[in-house]
Amino acid sequence: MRAADLPDDLERVLYSQEEVAHRIDEVAAVIDKDYAGRDPLLVGVLNGAVMTMADLCRAMKIHCHMDWMAVSSYGAGTRSSGVVRILKDLTTDIEDRDVLIVEDIIDTGLTLSYLVQNLRTRNPRSLEIMAMFRKPEAISAPVDVKYIGYDIPNEFVVGFGLDYAGRYRNLTDVATLAEHVYK
Ligand code: 5GP
Repeated sequence: MRAADLPDDLERVLYSQEEVAHRIDEVAAVIDKDYAGRDPLLVGVLNGAVMTMADLCRAMKIHCHMDWMAVSSYGAGTRSSGVVRILKDLTTDIEDRDVLIVEDIIDTGLTLSYLVQNLRTRNPRSLEIMAMFRKPEAISAPVDVKYIGYDIPNEFVVGFGLDYAGRYRNLTDVATLAEHVYK
């Protein structure tokens, strides 16, 4: 679905489907160059990173592998619970692999810093992060994000894999929600 299909639910479109696709192509080109000849393992963080992962890996022109993790983050609300739990672990042994975590959005950075700590103990050859969106607060988070789609304002956004109470993941544009939806 597109933003035009939800005239009452959305406040403002931040990025259109076309803009997101263009930005993904740019980031993929940098990743291609950085990982040439290395077959990186892309680790997608479920569920939010599904769209980013699908579009990023298809925009890449080098070979890559894929695996997925699920960690607890937001419930039905719009603030981080502060609790990070692994709900689904990797099926791949990452020892000596070039691992690139693919994340949808970094807000506090809590989820990601936990993930990085956890994956480091498994001795990957390298461990980097690609996040499609990053909020201002994340700047102070203790994680180094190598590839960023967009730095966005401190607002709750939906679309391109990002949900509110399970909805809007299939919205292809990225938008803020109208207040009546979450109040
Ligand atoms: P953090 O641990 O960085 O505070 O939160 C990261 C996770 O919270 C993301 O993977 C995502 O699931 C969720 N999240 C953070 N900000 C937003 C947002 O603006 N919209 C949506 N839909 N989810 C968000």
